[in-house]
Amino acid sequence: MASLSLKHVYKVYDGTTKAVSDFNMEIRDKEFIVFVGPSGCGKSTTLRMIAGLEDISAGELRIDGVIVNDVEPGDRNIAMVFQNYALYPHMTVYENLAFALRTAKVPKDVIHEKVTEAARILGITEYLERKPRALSGGQRQRVALGRAMVRSPKVFLLDEPLSNLDAKLRGAMRAEITRLHERLGTTFIYVTHDQVEAMTMGSRIVVMKGGFVQQIDTPKNLYNHPANLFVAGFMGTPPMSFHPATMKKEGETVRISLDCGGEMTASYTTLNRVQTRYMNGIHPVILGVRPDDVVPWREGMAPDLWAKLPVTVSTVEALGGETLIYGHIGTAPHDNPPLSAPEDTPDSSPLSKRGAIIIKAPADYEAHSGGLIQAAVNLGKLHLFDRETEVSIKPRIPTENLIPCALTADALTFAGQRLPLPPALRGRKAAEGVAENAVPAILIPADALLLGTGSGRATVAEAETYTAQGVTRTLYRLTVGGEVIFATEAGEPRFSVGDVLPFDVDLSRVTVEAYGIHPLPAENRLSGRFTKEKELDDKGKRVYRFYLEMEDMPIPADPELCEKLFSCKGTAIFRAPLSYRFPPDAVTVTPRDKDTENTVLPGRVKGILDYGRVTYAEIDVCGKTVIAPYNGKAGEAVGLTLDQDRLTVVDAEVDIIIV
Ligand code: ADP
Repeated sequence: MASLSLKHVYKVYDGTTKAVSDFNMEIRDKEFIVFVGPSGCGKSTTLRMIAGLEDISAGELRIDGVIVNDVEPGDRNIAMVFQNYALYPHMTVYENLAFALRTAKVPKDVIHEKVTEAARILGITEYLERKPRALSGGQRQRVALGRAMVRSPKVFLLDEPLSNLDAKLRGAMRAEITRLHERLGTTFIYVTHDQVEAMTMGSRIVVMKGGFVQQIDTPKNLYNHPANLFVAGFMGTPPMSFHPATMKKEGETVRISLDCGGEMTASYTTLNRVQTRYMNGIHPVILGVRPDDVVPWREGMAPDLWAKLPVTVSTVEALGGETLIYGHIGTAPHDNPPLSAPEDTPDSSPLSKRGAIIIKAPADYEAHSGGLIQAAVNLGKLHLFDRETEVSIKPRIPTENLIPCALTADALTFAGQRLPLPPALRGRKAAEGVAENAVPAILIPADALLLGTGSGRATVAEAETYTAQGVTRTLYRLTVGGEVIFATEAGEPRFSVGDVLPFDVDLSRVTVEAYGIHPLPAENRLSGRFTKEKELDDKGKRVYRFYLEMEDMPIPADPELCEKLFSCKGTAIFRAPLSYRFPPDAVTVTPRDKDTENTVLPGRVKGILDYGRVTYAEIDVCGKTVIAPYNGKAGEAVGLTLDQDRLTVVDAEVDIIIV
């Protein structure tokens, strides 16, 4: 039993090739985690770092709260099962199972008990006296699993364990491994390139691409709410089809015009998680449709739930239980080149096959190549992506709101609410280059809405609990003066559907582009180094003291931070150019005085930003600006104390987070 924590984990080969970048994850005890992604995306490397078979270039790996970066593989209490079984050919199955325990000098009777128990669970008792060569692939894989089981590890790591088996056996072994996980109640981490394996086995899935985590979520959430085009195309068979499109809001409906010529109309309610800025009829988006959500049109289907689209059939695949119809949207076959399955399934190059779509029809459905049928697309299940960033614009948890607004010298109005402007934002003029008739809009992060306080009034339309990085949070859909606004906060719901509640907005975090209003930086950055000095201690003994040198000003480093820096980089830390990063509220500012002169970072207040709820100071630190909560006067000499627990240290040369 074990929990794992990976923080800013990197793997760099030869000082330059980043195989894994900034991997962050909290794995709970007993979870079944699957790493999935195309070949070369860094799955195995991550698994091997957890196993200790590969050094961690930067970052922190904890098992049950203990940092294990430098712990030998044999001492991590982890067992790994490989694709090629790695059995000893000259030993019997029994000896293979017993080997690790014998080497660990476990008493014979205990070994016997563990081996027979593992063999019984895995159904290989009758093969215990055989050599591996006299076993089938599936049986060998069971022995490999058994070898891991007898050691009663805290964590099971499995690297593509089923890829050498044929399809039928793979299916059976998948179910067996899932049962084994339930029975053992141990944390499993499983690597595969096969998304079906990932979807059927994982309690949570990590989708990777090019060394970067794309999304971490449950199979259901990944399928229903892919975070970007890559995840959308990678998960699900047959794959989602993608259609370049634009959207236009017309009253309570939204017209979706596909570049291939098709058109559908959805109610605004079904798309209320999509920001209205995508609905101006111009912004290029990509519409994604899963074959599961397209069926042949039937008379009587509700037009607010289903969109009717003409589809010219290219290929029909009768699969017995159902029929897959490959075609393209539109009535004129000569407009679009004919498609044929499976080479022309939309996944190979999402946007090249204009209008290609797959329909899931009942087994007895009659369709013929070249024929025209009417398809029904489930409007509630549409996926939408920004065409440039490829990020989902209909996320499960919206992170921001963009709402038309108006600004006077001392107040901000949006969605029928009038918020007085704090001194920091008063008297703003329209930024240069903003057209006079353009409607300004305010961008409010969902977690910058402060509920239960303030002069705004909102009605709760929906409250939903979700988990992010192991923390319970609540998403509210609010109605505010006819606009939909999303708000998120930590914890269980405090308000119920129908509640009318006051709200405020943290105006230090909003953007109003038209008036040059930008959020305060979420992070301060100072460059520097990590240094040591030989000094005399109280008893006159020579000792080393360590310093964080920021913009050439040294401040004493906390022992815990020193330890982390050394454990990641050894003495090379003294040579690395560093970037120190910290949020404004990790800084305590005090007027400068003699007592603290040598332990604080000296600065001078340049300006005061009064946001009403909190006042921040812009502080000059050797030519760099640091933002921190402080209510003082311009020109004042101050000292900055950093909460070193909240400091991020980046190796500036290779742009890798060290701690
Ligand atoms: P996956 O398991 O997802 O197929 P890997 O974790 O094996 O991918 O590899 C990730 C990347 O790291 C690949 O680009 C691979 O070429 C590279 N890589 C793996 N091992 C080494 C190595 N020993 N030296 C240099 N590059 C490596």
